[in-house]
Amino acid sequence: MINIILFGPPGSGKGTQASKIVEKYNLLHISTGDLFRYEMGNNTPLGLKAKEYIKKGELVPDEVTIGMLTNKVVANQDVAGYIFDGFPRNINQSESLDRILAEMNTQVSGLIALAVDDEEIVSRILNRGKTSGRSDDNDESIIRNRIEVYKQETRPVFDYYAKENKSHELQGVGSLEEVFERICNQIDQL
Ligand code: ADP
Repeated sequence: MINIILFGPPGSGKGTQASKIVEKYNLLHISTGDLFRYEMGNNTPLGLKAKEYIKKGELVPDEVTIGMLTNKVVANQDVAGYIFDGFPRNINQSESLDRILAEMNTQVSGLIALAVDDEEIVSRILNRGKTSGRSDDNDESIIRNRIEVYKQETRPVFDYYAKENKSHELQGVGSLEEVFERICNQIDQL
């Protein structure tokens, strides 16, 4: 299996690039943000719980997030591999992911981070907010909180996998095709 963590701050293009990667490498794309939005759209208990945090730009608690992610992986084991988008977002989630994959006799192949600076992120997300219908994309103070949460809680995940020489950072600014090519070059070296 090839299991990739697509990593980077909010608005760095993970979702867009993940869709292109799955076409080329035939992996299953698992986006915790998309899973939450599906649950919120259906007003499920999990969706209502997640909404309390997402609207403030905070992380949804681990017991909710990790359970949801585990269910998705366990229900889809007959795949060539996974591309994780938006997970893990803290060290505890990283340790859980390692355990889940170890139980399946596999592991994280590599983490690919897209580097995009803060001001570019804010402008991209505000722009996306015009059409995404996401309330967390429309308010600059919430966007800045998401960036802060990324720096405090999520960025350490990069260092966690760097200890196993699995973390790679690429320039996330450029055309969609340019960024995609950089990612593919990296995947082919994993
Ligand atoms: P973005 O990367 O643009 O912030 P996502 O769709 O990945 O968008 O995530 C949207 C929101 O969903 C996050 O701000 C957070 O509140 C919640 N979320 C997504 N993934 C996780 C996760 N792994 N752990 C906790 N909360 C998460």
